[in-house]
Amino acid sequence: MRIILLRLPIAYNQSSASRITSPGGYLGAHLYCEWFVRYPPLGLLYQASLFKKQGHDILLLDGELAGLTVEKILKLCKKFQPDILFSTINIFNPQNEFKSLKILKDNLNCKLIARGHFPRLYPEQTILNKHIDYALTGKGFTASTELIDKIARNQATNNIKGIIYRTSDGKTVKTEDENQFDFNLLPMPARELIDNNIYNSALTLHDKFTTMTASIGCPYSCTYCIDKTIKYQSSSNEKIVLEMEECQNKYKIKEIAFLDSTFTIDRKKTIDLCNLIIKKRLKVKWVIRTRVDLVDEEIIDKLVEAGCISIHYGIESGNQTILNNLNRKITLEQIRTAVTLTEKKGLLTLGFFMIGNKGETSKTIEDTINFAKEIPLHFAQFNVVLALPETYMAENIKLNTGRDLWLESYLGKDIPAHMWKPQETDLSYEELTSWSKKTMHAFYLRPAYILKMLKSKFTYSIIIQQFRIIFLLLKIYIRKLLK
Ligand code: SF4
Repeated sequence: MRIILLRLPIAYNQSSASRITSPGGYLGAHLYCEWFVRYPPLGLLYQASLFKKQGHDILLLDGELAGLTVEKILKLCKKFQPDILFSTINIFNPQNEFKSLKILKDNLNCKLIARGHFPRLYPEQTILNKHIDYALTGKGFTASTELIDKIARNQATNNIKGIIYRTSDGKTVKTEDENQFDFNLLPMPARELIDNNIYNSALTLHDKFTTMTASIGCPYSCTYCIDKTIKYQSSSNEKIVLEMEECQNKYKIKEIAFLDSTFTIDRKKTIDLCNLIIKKRLKVKWVIRTRVDLVDEEIIDKLVEAGCISIHYGIESGNQTILNNLNRKITLEQIRTAVTLTEKKGLLTLGFFMIGNKGETSKTIEDTINFAKEIPLHFAQFNVVLALPETYMAENIKLNTGRDLWLESYLGKDIPAHMWKPQETDLSYEELTSWSKKTMHAFYLRPAYILKMLKSKFTYSIIIQQFRIIFLLLKIYIRKLLK
């Protein structure tokens, strides 16, 4: 069968939820995604590999970052003539995505399968859209491959776990949830299907860039996070190194950002992985995210030896009570030690902070600013907290207001921005956004920081990188205008 995998142009700016996520409130969420996290659609790339293994012809369209309009996507679809259109539907702006998919479906003769955050959380609402033939309701990959197989053979789909669909007489059928899938069994993402030159990140030090996932899920239980809803699983070190080798040798990738939430969670496995990378003499550089309590001198030394150039830490607050409220299970001292050690070992450090958590006051935000300035971070990102679905915070909003804001937003209700903030701080939404700007100013606009960055070995590469992204965005924009 001929299958198109699609990431739609999202138009984040139109969603009130996404408006509050931009760091410091400076960049619109859309520009933030274009600039800071120009990441390839990894989920679709895994999916594409699985479909290819089944023998299908695949076209992958990245509407979001390749600058494809819906009209252009339709043109490409008509040329390819898919039997199946397989599209992600995001939680931030599902209404627009459903509308775009309707245009595509009405003009093509194919089945439409929806996957992603929205169909998983709101399967019944998804299938109410008559142009959606099937939606995937689980997090795995088994349902999609089984579904494609059954459609290809024209067989019944009612025994596939993790899907929702309408029968020919209009009845909705939702099958049992999909079982946990084995992350290690996934093939390598089909990077040959995308233009790897268009992916990037504002903090990338070596062009060309891609992302990888060595593990999924997290065993911790921070209140604001959805990664804990996925059971922790990791790939074997051999498989990780094989993929790194492929990125380096086949795609000429120079830098890989690992998207794992807690890369160093298994100490021994991390050290073994580094040893394997060193043994294979891989030249590709890489970046990880992890917790401050999951690093020490020995592990950082190994990471550096194996080519890791940067560690991004979820710090969140400079006030211990707020950290405790978030169930972070880390101390300010652990943060200070980890960041200091990381910087001392020559790695670039980035800290993520959140403003507006449970118990947040002007005083605790000042603590956060002071702490961020005190520890040797190269970069810091301050965001107003957004209560993502499935988190304790979102449940708390539901409990206090009796409203499911994500669903209401999808149903077209205009949700005032202040509604999205967690309910457990007395600070207003306006105060929080103003504080998020102040935190950015306080961190970046100080002589000591400017001096430190002027002397830093990273500065030159970071400046070049911003020009690369400007050039890339211009190229995509001009291409969009011309076609
Ligand atoms: S914030 Fe990090 S450590 Fe906490 S649950 Fe999420 S991924 Fe795990």
